[in-house]
Amino acid sequence: MAERFTASGIAIAVDPEMLLDELCSHFVEHSTVKRDGDLVTLEMITGKADIRRKDRKLAIELSCRSARALQTVRSVLAEHLFQFAGDDRLELAWSDAPKADRLPDLREIRVVGARNISPHMRRVTVACDDAKHFAHGGLHFRLLIPPKGRMPVWPKLRSDGRIEWAKDEDALTVRIYTFRRIDLERGEIDIDFVLHQGVNMPGAEWAVNAKPGDIAGALGPGGGGVPDARTMILAGDETALPAVSRIAAEVPAGTQLRIFLEVDGPAEELSLPSAGTVDLTWMHRNGRPAGTMGLIEGAIRNALAEADGDTFVWAGCERSEAKRIRDFLKTERGHDRHKMSIGAYWER
Ligand SMILES: Cc1cc2nc3c(=O)[nH]c(=O)nc-3n(C[C@H](O)[C@H](O)[C@H](O)COP(=O)(O)OP(=O)(O)OC[C@H]3O[C@@H](n4cnc5c(N)ncnc54)[C@H](O)[C@@H]3O)c2cc1C
Repeated sequence: MAERFTASGIAIAVDPEMLLDELCSHFVEHSTVKRDGDLVTLEMITGKADIRRKDRKLAIELSCRSARALQTVRSVLAEHLFQFAGDDRLELAWSDAPKADRLPDLREIRVVGARNISPHMRRVTVACDDAKHFAHGGLHFRLLIPPKGRMPVWPKLRSDGRIEWAKDEDALTVRIYTFRRIDLERGEIDIDFVLHQGVNMPGAEWAVNAKPGDIAGALGPGGGGVPDARTMILAGDETALPAVSRIAAEVPAGTQLRIFLEVDGPAEELSLPSAGTVDLTWMHRNGRPAGTMGLIEGAIRNALAEADGDTFVWAGCERSEAKRIRDFLKTERGHDRHKMSIGAYWER
């Protein structure tokens, strides 16, 4: 059996039952949730958490495939427990408490160039002294954008597992992106930003204004990786295009990919080189707003009608469409939960 990395924690809470309820309803979107009375089990891509209530205590057992995954699951769980506790007092202690220190998965990145690769997709190339850190363990990362004109104050790890973020004028803005390409020789990383509609959009604006020398933080890698499957359906809008492109670029020869990508129009189409066999369909909104047309859900339903149960279904799109796809796969289709990864990439 593969090595497991484990940690135990005890949370003492005012209302542990409420915390269990909140964990169940929140994590159902991100993981497989099982509840058996006072025991809740969360199975995530990166690991498993058993949380058992006993009186005012929650006994937590974490088991993950890597030390990095353990650190991530612990901090995600800790953050959520404190968030759900709100103003109620909560004490959380771990068997081997993490050292209060700079986050082990955080690296500084420095812009070296930026250019539009389509009318609404801007590629920012950044340099990183330790680019290889991001090469394995997930395709995605949290981009930490420092406030304009201030030296970045990077987050630290707290002994209760939470991340301690700088506040007020030093507060960072955090958005999730995909490592589109990592060039280990040059120590450079490409990140493709959708220049989407909206106001107050720090992620897209950071890309628009990016100039050589700008500093940001990259916290990761995380999220899913390249699915391990011979046949896949990959579907998404332009926010998922970097991840779909990377999956296509990294699958081994012989992999069958049916890809459905929703973009505004033909000018947004990019090439997707792959060693696999690719059947690619572009779907156009033609000026209608993103996240309103249900094209990705429709494409997955149609494609699955003629696919077998071994097909891995991967999607990244607007939150409500992602939920509909997840519900369809789980309830209507009864698709194997280990053969799907459906991500809410943004929210209208
Ligand atoms: C795992 C993962 C990987 C991702 N990878 C990428 C990536 O590689 N490239 C990328 O560009 N995005 C990616 N995203 C999506 C990105 O995180 C969101 O689009 C994010 O909201 C952008 O932040 P912002 O500051 O630009 O806008 P926000 O401040 O979050 O939102 C401002 C306004 O813009 C709207 N908005 C946000 N995104 C969109 C959109 N795509 N289309 C239309 N309206 C939108 C919001 O509804 C809001 O009204 C990824 C998300 C996830 C979860």
